[in-house]
Amino acid sequence: MFGSSGVRGIVGKEMNPRLALKIGEACGQIYGNVVIGNDPRTSSIMIKNAVISGLLACGAEVTDVGMVATPTLAYASRDYDIGIMITASHNPAEYNGIKIFNKDGSGISLKDAKKIEELIKKEPKYVAWNEIGNVEQRDAIKEHLEAILNDVEGNGIEIAIDCANGATSTITPYLLRKMGCKVIAINSNPDGFFPAHPPEPVDENLQQIKEICKVRNIIGIAHDCDGDRMVTILKGKLIENEKLMVLFAKYIDAKKIVVPVDTSMLLDEVLDAEIYRTRVGDIFISEKLKEINGDFGAEPSGTWIFPSFSYCPDGIYAVAKFIEMLKEIDIEKEIEKMPKYNMIRKSFKASREKIEEAMEKMGKEIKSMEYERLIEIDGYRIEFEDSWALVRKSGTEPKIRLTIEAKDREKVDEILQKMESVVKRCLE
Ligand code: MG
Repeated sequence: MFGSSGVRGIVGKEMNPRLALKIGEACGQIYGNVVIGNDPRTSSIMIKNAVISGLLACGAEVTDVGMVATPTLAYASRDYDIGIMITASHNPAEYNGIKIFNKDGSGISLKDAKKIEELIKKEPKYVAWNEIGNVEQRDAIKEHLEAILNDVEGNGIEIAIDCANGATSTITPYLLRKMGCKVIAINSNPDGFFPAHPPEPVDENLQQIKEICKVRNIIGIAHDCDGDRMVTILKGKLIENEKLMVLFAKYIDAKKIVVPVDTSMLLDEVLDAEIYRTRVGDIFISEKLKEINGDFGAEPSGTWIFPSFSYCPDGIYAVAKFIEMLKEIDIEKEIEKMPKYNMIRKSFKASREKIEEAMEKMGKEIKSMEYERLIEIDGYRIEFEDSWALVRKSGTEPKIRLTIEAKDREKVDEILQKMESVVKRCLE
């Protein structure tokens, strides 16, 4: 039930108030003091209230911080046993989800999630009428905002921001103004219908902000719905997230960096640091960072973990750090210096059963190929000289994902052709 991003599904189907109630009941039996928040999806209040009911019925004290970004909720979790966020992150409007955070801002481990799943299967232990928990409110946004402002220096540049009508509408534009920026904010009114564009910060969804940045010749920033992600725009074009990883890593002088297995070889090439690769999913990055005492984590989708601040991917803190960095670093020049690789990402939709079957078949096919190295921490990553390919099943959607990178263009196409036919054949 719990994946690397908690529980997620289509509202009224996999994600519904009965399931939310059960998760609330289970958490209420394990944890005594819980903070909860939600994104602006049309179903978020419904799901949240069901979770709260379960928590209270099992005796937990609840603090409801209202509509907040995920990193704001995660930051508030430090004062509670756990934090619960109602969000489906970057997924389309019909989805919702429940994600649980530890005190240090990291998502709970699969092991802790298992404990919750076990309790869901049993009859809940309700407390007596006089032991039912209470609900309090708290301004978590102000606390998160102040903590970030305490940690970064301002920069009075003009900047455009697209909040995707998501939860960051309540924090990032204000943060930027407090940092001294002249802010052009678009899609910064929370709206669970996501009228401007789907809430995933990928190139095709960011036409508006790219246009503004181009016309005004300014830097731009975009979030996903819940603000654990942020991406940046330079000269009207998206900066590749892996290039931004390099910029951040250099800027904070990171020596131990954790990224998922689908991350570019650019980092290994240009950074003077130890690079660790994990399964895809921010909880695995946070876990590894804690284990090795790492100083920076990131995902190619645009999540950024600065452990000195929080173990949650904090897109809002990352915005602030980015703005601060612009004072010292000419990012255009730095990006120009980086070697250029070619990467292609593709996904293939199928039913969950079909995907399981196909992954098994693909494993056999891939192992029979010729390669230099095979990494099996998440799907199959095969490495060749100056290129690699990865097939894995998505942790959040019923899809198989294929990533290919090579130093030269023809090589990418060649590997793509080969791998695509393997995936399609195994999905048949
Ligand atoms: Mg997100």
